[in-house]
Amino acid sequence: GDCGSKAANAYREYAARMSPPIPNLPQPETRLPNPYWSPVVHRLTPYVPGEQPKLDKLVKLNTNENPYGPSPRVLEAIQAELSDALRLYPDPSAGRLKQAIADYYNVMPAQVFVGNGSDEVLAHVFQALFQHPMPLLFPDITYSFYPVYCGLYGIGFATVPLAEDFTLRVADYLRPNGGIIFANPNAPTGCLLPLADLEWLLERNRDSVVVVDEAYIDFGGETAIALVDRYPNLLVTQTLSKSRSLAGLRVGLAVGHPELIEALERIKNSFNSYPLDRLAIAGAVAAFEDREHFERTRQAVIANRATLVAALAALGFEVLPSAANFVFARHPQRDAAALAAALRERHVIVRHFRQPRIEQFLRIT
Ligand code: PMP
Repeated sequence: GDCGSKAANAYREYAARMSPPIPNLPQPETRLPNPYWSPVVHRLTPYVPGEQPKLDKLVKLNTNENPYGPSPRVLEAIQAELSDALRLYPDPSAGRLKQAIADYYNVMPAQVFVGNGSDEVLAHVFQALFQHPMPLLFPDITYSFYPVYCGLYGIGFATVPLAEDFTLRVADYLRPNGGIIFANPNAPTGCLLPLADLEWLLERNRDSVVVVDEAYIDFGGETAIALVDRYPNLLVTQTLSKSRSLAGLRVGLAVGHPELIEALERIKNSFNSYPLDRLAIAGAVAAFEDREHFERTRQAVIANRATLVAALAALGFEVLPSAANFVFARHPQRDAAALAAALRERHVIVRHFRQPRIEQFLRIT
């Protein structure tokens, strides 16, 4: 129909009533309302992942994948699982994997949640723990999936500006809130928040859940998992996509108080009983068991990062201090979009965000 038609207007009113706009959310492209769609679909602004171009001889530095392959023991474990057993459903609670993670981090399996990538874990976190009357708080510059989940689940949020040097000031989060989430190290900046600062915040923010997204923690930080026994409102998420080189297997996890885990299990068991298939469970268990491969490849990434930072600095780039497997850099004389385009012509793909404060930066894996 016609945009100005009575039916379209009536439908718009209905959609607004069923799904009121959320303050702060980027407004989706305006298009004609589709009466077949649920109202929420009209106001979704989906996340845009870094592209996976099908180019030859690509130097792919845009999605923070690991250049070293996964542990050979992971591949063996997956191969061993490739059998007639695939006719059977996997263990819905992935008990073996929870046990392996509990052993690795010295926690109880009841403190562990696993999902199909940490994006799925985070989705359940937003629905299970952040749908409250007070706004969720997160930094103005951080993982761009957070506002997308707010849109999906109708969560009001407020962004808290990072300092001028892109560090996070925990004192800025001392205000009424329905939850707090940030990535540590942060993305796309790579900046690390010291554990002492997190603990300072946890001591003063007791009434809502604080989630620390540790997707990149193994490349230069200390995990906050050691704090979960002392703070029942702390939840830590991690992924096997980065430091364990398994982005294609889709495994993520959360560690926290059993009551927080129970909330996530309730959402998960109301959504998909089997988020991890047999291959993913077998591969992920082996990834946690092969500590030698993990340690060697993670140290190699850290060493390469230092080489890259020095080489970029020699070319005149300003590089933020990175604790991740990527660096965030700008050149005082070169436009970031032009640099990204010129690199692309040479089949080198980096990530450029057209976003206030960071439009002159490139994120380079
Ligand atoms: N958190 C952050 C900060 C990330 O950068 C990513 C990777 N895009 C994720 C979570 C999700 O990673 P995955 O779903 O592969 O576990």
